[in-house]
Amino acid sequence: MRNFFTKVAQFMYGRYGMDKLNIGLFILWLVVNILNTVFFRNWIVQLVTYLIVALIIFRCLSKNIEQRKRENDIFMFWYYKAKPLCIKIKDWFKLQGRKFADRKTHRYIKCPYCKATIRVPFSKGKHTVKCPRCSEDFKTNIRF
Ligand SMILES: [Zn+2]
Repeated sequence: MRNFFTKVAQFMYGRYGMDKLNIGLFILWLVVNILNTVFFRNWIVQLVTYLIVALIIFRCLSKNIEQRKRENDIFMFWYYKAKPLCIKIKDWFKLQGRKFADRKTHRYIKCPYCKATIRVPFSKGKHTVKCPRCSEDFKTNIRF
C-alpha cells in the first residue's frame, strides 16, 4: 500500500493538483448531476457532467501550472464578487425558515425608515412599533 502512495506521489510530482476552481467545478458537477437525475433526465446534460469531470481531471493532472493558476485567479476574482449576493440569498432563505418556525407566535415586519426586518409578537390589530435599529416609531397593522 505504501508503494502505491509513493507511486501516486511520483505521478503527481510537477502536476497542478486541486484548487478552489476545481472544488467549484466539483460542486457544479454535483448540482448538475442531481438536477439531471431528478428533473431533466437529458443525455446532453449528462454529457456536460462528463465534460466537467474531464475538465477537473485535466486541470488536476496538468503540468502547465502557470496557466492553471491564472484560471484559478479569474475564478477567485468572480467568487469574491459573487459572495455578497450568495450571502444575501442564504439570509433570505434563513429568514423564510424563521418566519415559518415562528408563524404561530410572531410576525416579521419591515421598518419603513431603515428597511430592517423586525420580529414582533403576533397579536391582531394596530400597533406602534419602535425600530430597534434606527429608533423611529411607526404604525403597523397586523391582520393575519
Ligand atoms: Zn428602522
